[in-house]
Amino acid sequence: MRTRVCRLHAKGDIRVETEPVPPPGAGEVLVAIGAGGICGSDLHYFQDGGFGPVRVREPIILGHEAAGTVIAVGPGGAPGLTQGTRVAISPSRPCGACRYCDEGLPNHCMNMRFSGSAMRMPHEQGLFRDRVIVQAAQCVPLPRAVSLHHAACAEPLAVCLHARAMAGDLAGRRVLVTGAGPIGALCAAVATQAGAAEVVVTDLEDFTLSVARRMGATQTLNVGRDPDALLPYTADKGHFDVCFECSAAAPAIAGAIAATRPRGRIVQVGVAGNVPVPINALVGKEITFQGTHRFHPEFAQAVAMIASGRIDVAPIVTATLPLDRAVEAFAAAADRKSAVKVQLIFDGLEDAGA
Ligand code: ZN
Repeated sequence: MRTRVCRLHAKGDIRVETEPVPPPGAGEVLVAIGAGGICGSDLHYFQDGGFGPVRVREPIILGHEAAGTVIAVGPGGAPGLTQGTRVAISPSRPCGACRYCDEGLPNHCMNMRFSGSAMRMPHEQGLFRDRVIVQAAQCVPLPRAVSLHHAACAEPLAVCLHARAMAGDLAGRRVLVTGAGPIGALCAAVATQAGAAEVVVTDLEDFTLSVARRMGATQTLNVGRDPDALLPYTADKGHFDVCFECSAAAPAIAGAIAATRPRGRIVQVGVAGNVPVPINALVGKEITFQGTHRFHPEFAQAVAMIASGRIDVAPIVTATLPLDRAVEAFAAAADRKSAVKVQLIFDGLEDAGA
């Protein structure tokens, strides 16, 4: 059996290539991928050759947001998985044996293998391929009614559920979300679902803000057109109890600190290298500046929330393109005037009948 793969050879050089697929081994399954979402990190690899210290140093198959159908199970079988089981694939493979895995912090695993990541050498190859071998443990079965497009949103939703866990109880809280890309839009949705009293979302583009409104934002502010739009929320030392900072842009971080009330919490979801932070206000208002990194148990929770309809991810999927138009899809994903989440379509979509 052969498969097409979407491989990045170097910055700006994506090729759709064909290679053989071995049969699945013990504990593994062969999945026909149906849909795969292009993430900001995929885009950074493509446009910039990496982000921060993480650089593409060898060809890498991109993709870590994917769903498909099991078409073969390795020797010895796999619990809950048979030929025809539709699954969302978690890209997260902690070792289960290092000190952080032992401490119950698998997202901080010292030997993490994360699909489509250039963090380690050799790079961990990703999920943008028609056929892929994965560990059975990475697969979460889907109810029939869930489309593979929506199931492929489980990974970014898991990121937001972990961020929410880091934020604490949101019931009745005033929440600010800075940045309305896929992660910002999904943070707005999880905050709404958690009972936030108010969810205000900022961005530089009207299009992404319109999607954020459909995901539950009670108000949206275009801080590109009106840089002072957050000013009313800075009165009396700040309005918001919690901020999900999803842009990693210096003005957004400064705005978030100004608009967060004393003893409030800013969960830094967006990633960047060195960014200036107004420490005086952070210290003066006793704000908790909280990091958040990936997820682990939240992946299965994300699948369950999508499957049950508690979170409707449909509004964020703004375009789907077949794998042979991958370069066009990456260009589309980079255009924030018309895209939130762009997904690639693989051969497995027809197999799944969804
Ligand atoms: Zn580990």
